[in-house]
Order: sequence, then C-alpha cells, then structure tokens
Amino acid sequence: MRAYLPKYNLTSATSLDHALQLLDNGNRPIAGGTDLMVLFDTGNLPEGNYVSIHSLNELKGICISDEYVKIGALTTYSELRQNEVIRDEFPCIYEAAKVTGGIAIQNRGTIGGNIANASPAADTPPALLVYNASLKIISSTDEKNIEYKNFHKDYKQTQLAANELIKEIILPRQNKHKLHYYRKVGTRKAQAISKICIAALANFTKEKIENVKISVASVAPTVVRCTKTEDYFCGKQYSQIDIHEAQQVLQTEISAIDDIRSTKNYRVRVTCNLIQEFFDLITEENNE
Ligand SMILES: Cc1cc2nc3c(=O)[nH]c(=O)nc-3n(C[C@H](O)[C@H](O)[C@H](O)COP(=O)(O)OP(=O)(O)OC[C@H]3O[C@@H](n4cnc5c(N)ncnc54)[C@H](O)[C@@H]3O)c2cc1C
Repeated sequence: MRAYLPKYNLTSATSLDHALQLLDNGNRPIAGGTDLMVLFDTGNLPEGNYVSIHSLNELKGICISDEYVKIGALTTYSELRQNEVIRDEFPCIYEAAKVTGGIAIQNRGTIGGNIANASPAADTPPALLVYNASLKIISSTDEKNIEYKNFHKDYKQTQLAANELIKEIILPRQNKHKLHYYRKVGTRKAQAISKICIAALANFTKEKIENVKISVASVAPTVVRCTKTEDYFCGKQYSQIDIHEAQQVLQTEISAIDDIRSTKNYRVRVTCNLIQEFFDLITEENNE
C-alpha cells in the first residue's frame, strides 16, 4: 500500500551547511530517491521530515590527484561509467556501475545512496572493498574519514549517525593489479538485484600467485571480504593450489541464506564456481 503523502515533509537543502542543520533537527536525507521511493510506494517509508541533498554541488564530482580519486557521494552510476580513470584503474567499480539497475536508475541513483542504504546485495560495495576505499563522513560539528571495511556493522546497520552524511568516497590510486574480476549473477542482465556479486583482484608471476583480494555480496548480512580465502591463494605456486580446498575455505567465510531472490545452496554453489572462474582466469592470463 502506498504511503500517505501529507504525512511527509520534504525540504530541498540550499547548501551543505543547511542540509547538516536539518539533519541535526531530525530530517532524513534523500539523494536520488531510487531506494527511498520504492519504500514510499510500498508504504514502508517512515513518515516525517526529509531533506533533499540532490542539488548540493559540495557532494558532486570526481576529483583526481596523483594519490587519490575522490568520488562525491552524489555521483551517479552514469557519471562513474563516463569517467576514464574509474574505467581504467578501478574496472570493478566501472563494471558495478554498468550492471546496476537500468539506464534510468544509473542516471538517478548515487554511489553514496548505495553505500548508506547498506543492502548486503548492493553492487558497488564488493568493488569498494577490494580497492581499499575509505569514506569521508560529515556532520555540522565534525568531519572524519573511516575505512570502508569498518562501515557496515551488521544487516542494514552502519557507522553513520542520523546527523551525518557521506561526503565522498576516497580510493587510493596505487592499485596496480594484473587482474580485476567482477561478476554479478542475477535473474536478468538489467534491473535485477544480485543473487551473488563478487569483486576480486590478483597479482601473479609465472611461478606463483603473489596476492589476491576477494569480496562477495549477497552471501552474508553485510558484504564480506574473504581474507581466509585470500590467504589460501597468497604466495602459492600454481601446482600447490587445490581449487576444492580453496572453495572449502571460502564456505567458512560466508553465511548465505534462502530468501525471495535465491536459495542458500544456489548462492554457495555459485560463489564457489565464481572462485573457480577467477582462478581459471589467473592461470589463463599467466599462460599467455
Ligand atoms: C528499479 C531499481 C533497480 C535497482 N537496481 C539496483 C542494482 O542493480 N544494484 C544495486 O546495488 N542497487 C539497485 N537499486 C537500488 C538503488 O538504485 C541504489 O542503491 C542507489 O545507488 C541508491 O542511491 P540513491 O541516491 O537513489 O539513494 P536514496 O534512495 O536517495 O537513499 C538511499 C538511502 O541512503 C541514504 N543516503 C543517500 N545519500 C546519502 C549520503 N550522501 N549520506 C548519508 N546517507 C545517504 C538515504 O537517507 C537512504 O537511507 C535499484 C533500485 C531500483 C528502484
């Protein structure tokens, strides 16, 4: 059932300071609205006061320096797709932007909203985790950086206080990896929420795998970084790797469930298959 409109009050913030004041007074932020309007349509959006941050220039744009890429929280998926540095240096983020929703969602939905909404099935978080992202969080009294790996505390619970906004996402640029792997598995290619989504990076030589980073969404209450599986691969020669052993380790790090989109068994099986595909790609590239 749709929500009752007069129970809501929406103010459009004229500046970041204005938005932060309104947050102090109990307003909730709305950016692109692509998550919140679904809640509104189904009658599940809490009634009360909202502040639109959508037109705030302080939260827009992608800034590139020698060391960092700083992505404003209001950056849309379409803007991420159009950015050459994102495409060339952070291909997992570029791929995530490409497979999120359809074109309309990509034009409206923001990366800050994707992070703050804290769905364990969201598509950018696995990519942000493997690239060691951090977040700039701002309130009327404080500004701080936190590592993205510490942001999600539990299902839909984050470090963000009610009076805080995500201002930007910071990506370190010293990110030289030979293989960037991103796969979303959903019911369709577009407009489907992930059943599983994985981002992984690898560095390797002819002799051995030097390091890997693996992060998976939709298999736990929050997106997870699979550090034990990473450790299994790191420093090993190819002949020492038994992919079935790696898959066993992986299964100790995920806690998939049955829900409307998929089953626990399917999720575990496909996540294991994707680790196999990732390893196959490493060996293929190594043999070229
Ligand atoms: C048809 C459809 C398809 C979709 N497909 C996908 C998909 O494939 N993959 C995927 O991951 N998601 C998908 N989504 C979900 C949604 O589009 C994304 O999560 C989007 O990035 C949300 O951004 P937004 O700006 O619209 O967030 P909003 O709806 O405006 O806000 C979402 C939440 O984040 C908070 N918030 C927003 N910005 C900030 C900020 N800067 N600081 C603090 N809090 C903030 C809001 O208060 C709210 O709680 C889909 C949604 C729809 C309707």
